[in-house]
Amino acid sequence: MSGTCGELVHNRRMIRAGGVIDAAGRAAAPGVVLLEGERVLAAGSPESVGAVEDAQVEDWKEFLVMPGLVNAHAHLDLSGDGVWPPAGADFRGWVGRVRSLRASMDAQSQRRAVERGIELALAGGTSCIGDIGGHPSGVSIHLLRASPLRGVSFVEVFGLGARQGAAVDRMRAVLDEFGPEVDGVRVGLSPHAPYSCGPRVFAAAAQLGVPLMTHLAETLAEVEVCRSGTGPLREMLEQDIGVWDRSVEVPGAHPIDALLEPLGRGRFLCAHVNWIEPRHVQMLADSGVRVVYCPRASAAFGHAPPELAEHPWRILHEAGVNVCLGTDSLLCLETPDRLSVLDDMRLLFRRDGVDARLLLAMATTHGAAALDLDPAVATLGNEAAGVIACPAQGVSAEAMLADVLRRDDGPQCLCRSTQ
Ligand SMILES: [Zn+2]
Repeated sequence: MSGTCGELVHNRRMIRAGGVIDAAGRAAAPGVVLLEGERVLAAGSPESVGAVEDAQVEDWKEFLVMPGLVNAHAHLDLSGDGVWPPAGADFRGWVGRVRSLRASMDAQSQRRAVERGIELALAGGTSCIGDIGGHPSGVSIHLLRASPLRGVSFVEVFGLGARQGAAVDRMRAVLDEFGPEVDGVRVGLSPHAPYSCGPRVFAAAAQLGVPLMTHLAETLAEVEVCRSGTGPLREMLEQDIGVWDRSVEVPGAHPIDALLEPLGRGRFLCAHVNWIEPRHVQMLADSGVRVVYCPRASAAFGHAPPELAEHPWRILHEAGVNVCLGTDSLLCLETPDRLSVLDDMRLLFRRDGVDARLLLAMATTHGAAALDLDPAVATLGNEAAGVIACPAQGVSAEAMLADVLRRDDGPQCLCRSTQ
């Protein structure tokens, strides 16, 4: 027998929540979300959604319902080793430990680490991710495509001096091998950083027409090695890694001054952007780059910006730059059981008093746009990639959102659409 029961045919669920909210203007308390399978049919106040006869009603009165979150900067393949002790300011030592970890991993442990990272991202209420795959085998691309997550799998490349040509060849080979979007996951490229990739790598990447991410102005040591070719990162590249030789040209400028043209032309998503000067704010706003701020990672490294009173993300946002949120790798976080920008929202809400609605936008629609996805996938509209619920109380949806950010509870997943 089939077709006799609307509930079975349609699989409709009426989520009666304490409140619903998204960054596209939906806010209601109480709130209702009508789901059909993994798709949102309607969300808003009970009056706006109306009665639906054949829906199974679920009571989520103690929860605020929100879109699935967008984590725009993660390293899922560094999720196999748990959480490391705080990194402090020794970035050279940190990179050395990450390199040793990578070198110690065989194909099976790489796979397990990415699988663990995907589990933790899903436990954190993530629908879309910008993940950097640091292993050459494409394991991150395959596993992301097989997972419920959507987004971009950025393949990381390195190439200084005489090694730039090989890096450019590798980028082209990656795109030939993995092709366009499959199962909601595109392949992008990530020239690692201005101190580990030369200008020809950035210029070539900007021509390739795919999503691009780099680590930019992460440390003061990066600014020093770009300006003068000296300091701990020069020592690391020369002595620890052996890639600094006479073929390497020192840019002789702050990395933003040296690379702004290709970064803007390629509409790079720039991670961290901790160490900029006030004059760079408008330059970045005019360039078209997007910025992903990883507040917990920046805090773990003790990265404070010069001349600006606080991290420049806020003035970048006010200048018109799309600023979104990322977690960076699990190694530098304090949440071994989930990988979630919800915890970065909480840090900024509690430590810096950032407006909860702005944080919601940074963790949803801003992140989707930064990954070249339709921002509607990170709302409660019909295109939603996922819907989550967080324990909360309050007289309005905004008050409930603030309550979510005061608590430590993890989110629960209500639905997840991979199409
Ligand atoms: Zn990173």
